[in-house]
Parts: sequence; C-alpha cells; structure tokens
Amino acid sequence: MKVLVTGGAGYIGSITVERLIKAGEEVVVFDNLYQGHEDAVHPDATFIKGDLANYDEIEAAIATHKPDGIMHFASYTLVGESVEMPWMYLKDNAVNGANLLEAAVKHGVKRFILSSTANLFDDPEFMPIAEDERIVPGSPYGESKYIMERYLHWMDQIYDMRYACLRYFNACGASEERGEDHAPETHLIPIVLEVALGKRDKITIFGDDYDTPDGTCVRDYIHIIDLAEAHILAMRALEDGPSRKYNLGNGKGYSIRDVIETARKVTGHPIPAEVGPRRPGDPDILIASSETINEDLGWAPMYPDLEQIISMAWEWHQKNPDGYSK
Ligand code: UDP
Repeated sequence: MKVLVTGGAGYIGSITVERLIKAGEEVVVFDNLYQGHEDAVHPDATFIKGDLANYDEIEAAIATHKPDGIMHFASYTLVGESVEMPWMYLKDNAVNGANLLEAAVKHGVKRFILSSTANLFDDPEFMPIAEDERIVPGSPYGESKYIMERYLHWMDQIYDMRYACLRYFNACGASEERGEDHAPETHLIPIVLEVALGKRDKITIFGDDYDTPDGTCVRDYIHIIDLAEAHILAMRALEDGPSRKYNLGNGKGYSIRDVIETARKVTGHPIPAEVGPRRPGDPDILIASSETINEDLGWAPMYPDLEQIISMAWEWHQKNPDGYSK
C-alpha cells in the first residue's frame, strides 16, 4: 500500500509515518513545515515540501505518486488560536482540505483517513463519549474538522471514496525517535516536562474549580503509537469495508494534578505548580469510549498507563531537550 501523509513532519503524522514504514508500507509525506520538522520525517519516506493551500502542488504530488490512500494530518490545530483567529480554521483548514479532496478524487484515490478531534463533543450527554454522541463543535478548530467530516460524507456518496474519521482525545507520549515539539508549546505534558528539564520555572494549572474530583480538568491521554496504529488498522479496513467514524482514547480520565504528580514520580523533579485562571473553552471532563474500534478492528491501547506514557515522553525530551532544532 502506498500512503500519502499530509502533515507527516508533524507530531502525530511523523510517528504514524514511522509505524507505516515499520509495517512495510510505502510513504509519501506532504508538509509545508509550518509546524512540522523535516528532521522528523522518516528517512525512508519520500518528502515533498508543499502547501495544501496551493491546489497545483497537491495535485502534482498525487498525480506523480498515485497513492492508494491518504492520511490527512496537516491543519491548524489549536483550540485557543482558533477562537482568536477563526478564519485560519473556518477558511484555511476547510479550503486546504477541499483542495486535497478535490485532487484525490480527480486521481481516483479511494481511501482517506481524517485526523479529527474530541473537540466535536463540547457538550456531551454521555461519558465516556461514543461515536453517536451529538456533535457540538467547541471552537472554530472543531468546526473545521466537522466541515472535513461532512466533505467526506459527500466524497463517499458521490465518488465512492471510503473514509475513516478518527476523533482523538489527548495525544501524548513519544516513540524512541520522535516526539512532541511545537512552537509555541501549549500542551500539558510537554510543558510539565519542560519544567522538569529546567526550561520553565513552573506549570500553571488552568483553573481548579471544575466539577471534577480534584477540581482540575480531566482528560483522556492516549499514546501516540496507539493512535498511529489505529490509523493503519483503519486504512486497511477500508480496503473492503465501509466508511466509519471512531473515537479514540484510553477510556480513562486523568486530572491535571494526576498528570503533574505522575510526572514528578517519573522525572524525580518537584515540578512546582500554581493555579491560574481557567482557559476559555475547557470542558470539565472528556473521556472517549473506544469500544467501536475495539469491536470492529480489535484495536486496544498498548500503552494505556499514564506513567509509561509520560516516561516515554520524558526519555525523548531528555534526549532532545531542544526538540528537533539542532
Ligand atoms: N493545561 C494547563 N496548563 C497548561 C496547559 C494545559 O492546566 O500549561 C490544561 C488544559 O487547560 C486542559 C489540560 O491541561 O485542561 C489538557 O490541555 P492540552 O492543551 O494538553 O490538551 P487539550 O485538552 O486542550 O487538547
């Protein structure tokens, strides 16, 4: 199978590429390096520096390489930023995704995996959150992923393209060679580890008056390798199966205080923490039900334990204290 991976130089994309190559697949990475790092691209993948905003660039890549399937990670991904700069999300993410889909159907690509998000479920009626939960995008970011999901519905109806939307919760952890390096970093686990590395003085907990056991937000932290494997399983399932949507998480919730405490244990660093104001848009609790993908594809997390997830991230951050920048 030949897979074109947009955003294959980014955190989730690069580790999925690593796992695809390990599984013997042929990979073409298409990335504009806006957040991604060329060093993160697996050396056995073909790398194209290109921008989805430019239809001709993505069409040429698909025409030349003729992938069997596409995994689409490339997008703007920050909830907070999406509220401040909605058009980056409501326009750019949507137009870039449409360019990709238009070129894909033009060249007969029949399988597509979308990197979607738990931000579709801002007001869940049931916890853990299953696939039939009502969709309430929590931000322009979530809305932009929902727009992609709707595009895919029509690609399937009209062009017979089979797709899987993977709505993931909090991606974290690292492989031996690849990890999380965003600029600026906004995610909890890498920030906590930057405190342990001495790169920051403290972690600020965004609010401790939530309706949760210790007052801090509860999230479902899923290991990046488990996420990557789910993409590969889903792509294979589309060879002879219908389109589908899966929620992907550990099925377990950990509070911000749990994460900090576990990181203290793993790193041996005191990791000073202070409580600050709430971050706009954070729901109290988000936990996924991954029963559907478990039943359909036999997927289950290999690394469900928070301590192991943080240990693997910590190993990568210690080896790469400045991330991918040399
Ligand atoms: N968080 C925090 N301090 C930080 C960064 C994040 O308290 O410096 C909180 C954030 O408000 C959320 C949780 O940690 O409740 C996970 O945030 P992250 O940005 O890692 O992922 P998200 O849940 O937004 O996808």
